[in-house]
Amino acid sequence: MNNLEAVVRQDSHSATPAEQSSTPEMAAAASAAEGMAAAALRSVLQRVNQAAERSSRQADRIRVVAVSKTKPVPLLRQVYDAGHRFFGENYVQEIVEKAPQLPENIEWHFIGNLQSNKVKPLLTGVPNLAMVETVDDEKIANHLDRAIGNIGRKPLKVLVQVNTSGEESKYGVEPSGVVELAKHVRTNCPNLEFCGLMTIGMPDYTSTPENFKTLANCRTEVCKALGIAEEQCELSMGMSGDFELAVEMGSTNVRVGSTIFGAREYPKK
Ligand SMILES: *Cc1c(COP(=O)(O)O)cnc(C)c1O
Repeated sequence: MNNLEAVVRQDSHSATPAEQSSTPEMAAAASAAEGMAAAALRSVLQRVNQAAERSSRQADRIRVVAVSKTKPVPLLRQVYDAGHRFFGENYVQEIVEKAPQLPENIEWHFIGNLQSNKVKPLLTGVPNLAMVETVDDEKIANHLDRAIGNIGRKPLKVLVQVNTSGEESKYGVEPSGVVELAKHVRTNCPNLEFCGLMTIGMPDYTSTPENFKTLANCRTEVCKALGIAEEQCELSMGMSGDFELAVEMGSTNVRVGSTIFGAREYPKK
């Protein structure tokens, strides 16, 4: 899944941004950005490998999702050309715009809060959507399940998002409600494939280890209740500031944005 070799191999003969840009200034800027994003990706994959080694885990069981929200398509393309295939986006309007401009063998992860009325545009606009990581109530699970049935696409992998930090503003089901929601998905949503749990944790990272521990504990409960093996229940945790710790604490899916693509700039409202 996390293929450092492919990155190293393909990097040398990928199309350079210079060939894709129309002015020397644009080419220079794109080239600098490309060099940086590809190098940053390589460094992240290496750090994941090392963290896996430190904790006696197999690095190929850990997926790195490159979180590309707010970043322009050419920059995603550079990371794709460096061999990477897992990308994450937060906003339906943005992923629906970007996905058709990029190769179909990208596995898109939707990691933002999903509203019921955006389910259909998301599914129809992104046929290669691989996973929705943010299912946090029965209503959205049912909407996804029904829409997939109507469209007739293959079952969609989903994670149940857990609020492990106790913050009121945070999306995600409370830890005490995880088993029930996971059961609902498994029992009542034939078009969804329950794949595990996701959490964001505190934005300032102050209680990261506790948040990760809470998610791992939820997995234990869910696996017992559903009668599945822990290997069948992924843990999506870890972002730019804490992905190595997350790997050491059992993450199978880290979501890394700014460390790969650079700091995000949001347009002023
Ligand atoms: C933006 C985002 C990330 C990536 O955050 P970075 O700190 O830039 O790595 C990961 N997960 C979610 C849910 C996000 O919204």
